[in-house]
Amino acid sequence: MPAKVAVLMAAYNADATVREAVDSILASTMPVDLFVVDDCSRVPVQELLGSPPGVTFVRLPRNGGLAAALNAGLKHILPLGYKYIARMDADDISYPHRFAAQVAFMERHPEVGMVGSGARFIDDKTGAPVMHYAPPLDPEQIRNAMYFNNCFVHPTWLLRSEVMARLGPYSLDYPAAEDYELVRRIASQVVLANVGDFLLDYRISSGGISVSKRRRQLLDRLRIQFRYLDATEWRCWAGMVKTLLLFVIPRKVVSVLKAEWRSWPGHAGGTAHQSVYQARHQRLQGAPPGTIDHGLQGHPKPMIAKTTIVRTGLETLYFSGAHKLMRPLVGGVGAILMLHHVRPPRSEAFQPNRQLEVTPDYLTRVIARLRRMQVDLISLDEMHRRLVERDFSRRFACLTFDDGYRDNKEWAYPILKAARVPFGLYIATSFPERLGKLWWLVLEAVIARNDRIALVMDGEEHHIACVGVDAKRAVFERLYWWLRGLHSETDVLAVVRDLAARYGVDTAALCGELCMDWSEIAEMARDPLATIGAHTVNHVMLAKSPEAVVRAELTRSRAVLEATLGSAPVHFAYPFGDRTTAGPREFAIAAEVGYKTAVTTRPGVLFAEHADHLTALPRISLNGTYQDERFISVLMSGAATALWNGFRRVDAA
Ligand SMILES: [Zn+2]
Repeated sequence: MPAKVAVLMAAYNADATVREAVDSILASTMPVDLFVVDDCSRVPVQELLGSPPGVTFVRLPRNGGLAAALNAGLKHILPLGYKYIARMDADDISYPHRFAAQVAFMERHPEVGMVGSGARFIDDKTGAPVMHYAPPLDPEQIRNAMYFNNCFVHPTWLLRSEVMARLGPYSLDYPAAEDYELVRRIASQVVLANVGDFLLDYRISSGGISVSKRRRQLLDRLRIQFRYLDATEWRCWAGMVKTLLLFVIPRKVVSVLKAEWRSWPGHAGGTAHQSVYQARHQRLQGAPPGTIDHGLQGHPKPMIAKTTIVRTGLETLYFSGAHKLMRPLVGGVGAILMLHHVRPPRSEAFQPNRQLEVTPDYLTRVIARLRRMQVDLISLDEMHRRLVERDFSRRFACLTFDDGYRDNKEWAYPILKAARVPFGLYIATSFPERLGKLWWLVLEAVIARNDRIALVMDGEEHHIACVGVDAKRAVFERLYWWLRGLHSETDVLAVVRDLAARYGVDTAALCGELCMDWSEIAEMARDPLATIGAHTVNHVMLAKSPEAVVRAELTRSRAVLEATLGSAPVHFAYPFGDRTTAGPREFAIAAEVGYKTAVTTRPGVLFAEHADHLTALPRISLNGTYQDERFISVLMSGAATALWNGFRRVDAA
């Protein structure tokens, strides 16, 4: 009677282990036939082993890798009519009762198409057990686990031949993860199971695998996860995010992130914003002792260089090429880029608003890079048209500048004009009126010029020392986010007005020094490259203001711009623009009062779906802290922001 099971083994220069592997199969309590595919080993396997009964050797004329060798074996085996095909590797050891146990399971479970088993991992040098791998057993658990990674030990597979004939063979496209690809393909059609017993010794290298091999594996895993993506299954997305994180973030950074995540109070509940806010809050409380007194002490804790982590992530995305891989999925149709100041680098060490400025040179390089990437640089009106008419034949980017700073005219405008790049300018109309309260800059000035400041926080007078750059940075962060967290705009302005008065900072002069006046704005507005958009009158945190104020800010700023420049703006930018300052109420009001588009500062690229959310558009910040034009291709690919958003495309809630 012919055996029910054909065992498929590929061998390549496995001289040290193949005899033991083959012997373990021959010792099976259930008769099986073994097919050894010799992938062109230096010493032919048959020369090593002779001709043991029940073993068929297939020697390949040239070395083609595991997947190709296994496919050659399948081609040989499938026509022979075995009921089952089992896998085995040339360096592992099957236990004698393995096939009997797996076949018995399959006969009891006709609905199952493939079964694996537990395995004992042993050290390849000493043979000592390293761990027992207990895979998930029931089909539901397996299905869920497979979104994240392969939960089958390849040499423990046993399949119905019919399944392999229908869904095989191995793909040659994933040389570091061919088994994961095939098992995902099989899992999409048939039920999979594992038997809980440990039925195989699986040899692992005591040295671990090399970094480059690990990266190849992760990359293949990611490609497979894309290929078998079920967009409605969150675990698919989570699995990819996990792989991607393993891929893009060096191990050291992963542990730092984990530590930071754990330290965030409220990460278990509450909104993401609360976590970020509290994290900042807590981190500032943990600033070096002595920088802050009077009730602001906390446990000293190392400050985590978040910028380093972000930079590392961006760099790894760039150098790994992972962003190119992700682009078709997460790259969307285009992006709106956000800038504030454009000016030559300043020498001061204390520049807490530095993320809001880039150098003219950087802007030049970004434009060149986008052009090289074949990205159309278009106006806000053209972006609106493409979104509404669904004209996505070419990827596009809009350059936008917020607030109306004079350096935009002095440094950015000549570059934009020379390169014929359209741009949007969002003007807060109180700035050219010299009534603007650029309170974040007032705060910077107060802290920069004083070694000690006093202010009333939450009803109590606080005295805060700020000697030295580190202390100034910490104090700025603490006060900035405390102010941003206040419940009303009026409260924020009261605190800052008080500070400005106490420390002699002339708010109007600051505004006059930094912001364009009406004649300068009018000069830019005459250029067809420029689109003037509104940015409220008083640069208020809209979501914290009463509805009547929101409506007044949106309509009055438009009326002022129309009266001054001759035409009414149809594009709008929410001041601050994150989710604490612009939400669904503001998105609805902006649309209702007639703005064609409105932009937030929520990070993200544009997707076709944004046509239905034209007053809740995301932007990509050209952040002054990461001035490297290579990052543009990463940001434009959407990879970085997709990670940030958990792969959510539209975020308009
Ligand atoms: Zn602004």
